[in-house]
Amino acid sequence: MLTRTGPWRQAGQILVISAGPPTWGPTVPQSPLPSGAPSTLGKTNTVNIQIPASGLTTANATLEPRPSRTEAEAAVRTLLRWAGDDPDREGLVDTPARVARAYEEFFAGYETDPVDLLARSFEETDGYDEMVILRDIRMESHCEHHMVPIIGRAHIAYLPQGRVVGISKLARVLEVYAKRLQIQEKLTAQVANTIEQVLKPKGVAVVIEAAHQCMTTRGIHKPGVTMVTSRMLGAFRDDASTRREFLAIIGGQRANVIEG
Ligand SMILES: [Zn+2]
Repeated sequence: MLTRTGPWRQAGQILVISAGPPTWGPTVPQSPLPSGAPSTLGKTNTVNIQIPASGLTTANATLEPRPSRTEAEAAVRTLLRWAGDDPDREGLVDTPARVARAYEEFFAGYETDPVDLLARSFEETDGYDEMVILRDIRMESHCEHHMVPIIGRAHIAYLPQGRVVGISKLARVLEVYAKRLQIQEKLTAQVANTIEQVLKPKGVAVVIEAAHQCMTTRGIHKPGVTMVTSRMLGAFRDDASTRREFLAIIGGQRANVIEG
């Protein structure tokens, strides 16, 4: 779980929670970005996408019954053969089972309802109604077009209106959506929309900056490219000074990208 042992700062009346390396869940490595992902997030070749505040995007319905583990492993065997290798050689014989287990981890987000995660909130806040920000949350997802990793960081903020939620829950909402097949734009919108829908705060802001391995390891092979997506709702959308305050707190460079 994300704990409150990390650095806390008071910037005026703004509560800043620096997540640092995420510590929730057993499967998230503590290391910084893996090789292949840029270590200069937000510094170079940034693509910026502003997400319109339109309707809520919901999870895809499952139309067919879920295949069995045996069927999934058989599919991996087929891919191994199709790649040109022999699935029966020693090094590959357990690979289908390993891949199936890995997929259970990568796509565990289909098992959890993010709305339920936020359902338990607290009213005893002594009237705290300033910005709450969880920043630099490591994010691991998979691109729905190529099924390869999207690795990056997210920053989530909201302006409470009577109710607050345990800070680890914000990171968990991100994690649940990230552990599904995604495009970054949809992921950003889903996190913001869910927080707005359940907590009904005065505003929500979500910024995600991530490297897509489908761009860095295949296709146009552009390492160092980071995509930045943002979704601003309520006060973050309507009030430029609130938005600037948030962007300044998560980092000046990002602020320039998103404002500019
Ligand atoms: Zn892709």
